[in-house]
Amino acid sequence: MNTQLKSKTIQIDGSIGEGGGQILRTALSLSMLTSIPFELVNIRAGRKKPGLMRQHLVCVQASERISHAVVEGAELHSQKLYFQPQQVQAGKYDFQIGSAGSTILVLQTLLPALMIQAEPSDITIHGGTHNPMAPTADFISQCFLPSLEKIGIQVDFECERAGFFPIGAGQINATIHPWIKQTQYTALDKGQLIDIHGYATALNIPSSIADRELEVLHNKLNLTQRQRLNFQGISQGNTAFVVLNYEHHQQIFSALGEMKKSAEKVAHDLAKEVKAYLATDAVADEYLTDQLLLPLALGKGGEFSAQMISEHTRTQAAMIQRFIDCEITFTESKENHWYIQVNV
Ligand code: AMP
Repeated sequence: MNTQLKSKTIQIDGSIGEGGGQILRTALSLSMLTSIPFELVNIRAGRKKPGLMRQHLVCVQASERISHAVVEGAELHSQKLYFQPQQVQAGKYDFQIGSAGSTILVLQTLLPALMIQAEPSDITIHGGTHNPMAPTADFISQCFLPSLEKIGIQVDFECERAGFFPIGAGQINATIHPWIKQTQYTALDKGQLIDIHGYATALNIPSSIADRELEVLHNKLNLTQRQRLNFQGISQGNTAFVVLNYEHHQQIFSALGEMKKSAEKVAHDLAKEVKAYLATDAVADEYLTDQLLLPLALGKGGEFSAQMISEHTRTQAAMIQRFIDCEITFTESKENHWYIQVNV
């Protein structure tokens, strides 16, 4: 290892803060963006099965491929990784997770480095598209990407085949366009609620599951519109989601069907989450909040209101500030309402 680079290397303890896979993914994204190498120890020390799982390994391998990185420790269950990127190259890439691991988390890892290139990239990723503890393909298309569009980031996204645990076999396609016109993000007020749409799908399992979920969602939330969707794919699974359209913001909440959990209970828990959000005038939900910090820190910064600040969000802010010269602050304005500022 080059000694000059070694001295520049950022040392990261993966057990700090939230201690999940996000530390690894954020480190990969930031390292590719800044060309600063990192050494990560105690990878996912906070998790039941620590170390690199297949889906994390794919994030490392995909990052290695697009940035021609020098990598040490990229093995299953490894708890230590050294990553030194070279030149990031836009292009056409195809990645196989080889399990039901989240395709979306791989896309989110690569997106920052690819969106600042001069040429567009076409990315195809095979694996899970609807995973617990990760954004679903619907969250990306209905909430994350529409929010990024407001600061000039353009990604054409398609979930060609849905992939649920344990088979996966889903496919997402994304075209990442060069980020040309950067704008500041201001989302302090979501405006009036225009409508609430409820969606549900049951892939290769009885469609009545989705209908029962929509019935409960309608009873609890008085939906403007409800629709059963037909997903393509070979895995079996169920998801229900609610899209809230406000004058100035679009927010989604989603749920996945689970073994031994009735469709009614899945929809009931989802409606409860939506109601908690409806009761505040904050713009971003818990998940969008942690996912917005990096794009804002890379662009012109911004300010927004959020429903809550999770440990994920705090860990994300700390990681970003180790690689990029910026200031991220959280101020609690009232109950379930935070003010977030990203100064670059
Ligand atoms: P980690 O747990 O460290 O692997 O990171 C999980 C990532 O998935 C974070 O960026 C979360 O914001 C995101 N996430 C988890 N659950 C959801 C959900 N229900 N909807 C949207 N994003 C989610």
